[in-house]
This record gives sequence, C-alpha cells and structure tokens, in this order.
Amino acid sequence: MRDALIEANWNEILRAVGNRNIKVIAVSKTQPVEKLQEAYQAGVRIFGENKIQEAIPKIQGLQSLPIEWHFIGHLQTNKSREAVRFFSWIHSIDSIKLLQHVEKEAIKQSKRTNLLLEVNLGGEESKSGTTEKDLPELLAAGRDLTWCRIYGLMTIPPFLEDVEEVRPYFQRLRELRDRYLPGYPELTELSMGMSHDYLVAIEEGATMVRIGTALFGKRAPVTNG
Ligand SMILES: *Cc1c(COP(=O)(O)O)cnc(C)c1O
Repeated sequence: MRDALIEANWNEILRAVGNRNIKVIAVSKTQPVEKLQEAYQAGVRIFGENKIQEAIPKIQGLQSLPIEWHFIGHLQTNKSREAVRFFSWIHSIDSIKLLQHVEKEAIKQSKRTNLLLEVNLGGEESKSGTTEKDLPELLAAGRDLTWCRIYGLMTIPPFLEDVEEVRPYFQRLRELRDRYLPGYPELTELSMGMSHDYLVAIEEGATMVRIGTALFGKRAPVTNG
C-alpha cells in the first residue's frame, strides 16, 4: 500500500528537517488506520493522537509494527490508565493532579512513561496547559517520579496566519526551557510547531514537531463539535 502524496509530503518534511536531531510526529488524529499504514510505508515511525478512545483501535491494529506513540491531546485524569498503557510519550501534563495520576498508573503497570509539560503561553482560557507562573511548582512535583520522567515542554500557540507572529511564542518556550534546565538537566525537549509553522519552530529550537495536515492533507471537519 503506497500513497504518492503522503510519501512526497513526508520527503519534503524530512528535507526541511535536514540533519537536525528532531522527532517528527505524524499527527494521525481523524485519519483511518489505512492512512497510518501508508505513512508507515513512507517511513513514518512516530505517530501522535489526541483522543484516547480514537487512538486505541488504531494502536491495536498496528501493534505488530515498531511505532512510537505520542499522546498530544488534553488528558483527563480518568484516562491516565489508557494513556500510560498505549503511549510512550504524553505531551500534555498540565497539573500536579494529572502528573500524580499518570505516575500512579505508570507504577502499577511498570511502564516507563516520558512526559512533557504543556505550557499555555497565549493565556487563552480555552486552551489547556499550565501557566508560566505555575510551571516551577509542576517541575518540582516531577522531581521524584519513579516510572515517569519529565523531558521537556510543549506548547500550542494561538493560531496566527502570519507565522512571524507565532515566533515569539516559540522563543518564549525555549527561554523557559533554558531557564529551568540547570535545575532539571533532563528538560531538553521542546515540542512545538505544527503544519503551518513548523519551519519557524525548528529555527527556534524545536526538538519535536507535530505535523498533521502537511503530511496527510486536510482533515475532514469534525461534525459533533
Ligand atoms: C492537530 C494537532 C496538531 C497537528 O496540526 P496540523 O495543523 O494538522 O499539523 C499538532 N498538535 C496538536 C496538539 C494537535 O491537536
């Protein structure tokens, strides 16, 4: 099963990334499992999903393949068990309560789980993520985890047509990472940049980019909100 468009898109993304050490996460939300298989054929090995219930059958369907799964959506505490079971990375830790739930599940399952703290830099009420002000407390709460480790920060900036207006958000996330790095030497990752702004994110130091439409094409509109 090959898909020439996905393959061409993937090669273009790889060209843009060049020889930098960046994880390209193929955001496969809303895509049927066949599309993920086509992306796999093109060389994709890291996929990102934002809804637990939607992701589980896809992950199970592709179980035999060496794929690294990243959870990038808002995580409710009552979904921590599935998040830990099915994903090796969770990008969206934004409260101490959620951190504790995830750690508890990771211990129960003896499952190494890599975490990023989501920071809401735009101050948009509608978006999840911790505030810059609460970040130190969240980092401190992550110090003594056993099966979980906090490896960096993630942000979803406001959607702005002009990518140059997004740049300051990426710069800010990097500043925060650099500020806390001396106290938290494992805080190396910066998950930032989506289809329309990942080139700018890479210029500003992204170590993970999350790319959906630029790889798979436009998603079908969500019908039930
Ligand atoms: C959907 C989504 C993406 C990918 O968005 P595109 O614009 O399609 O690349 C990245 N990150 C998160 C958190 C998402 O929900």
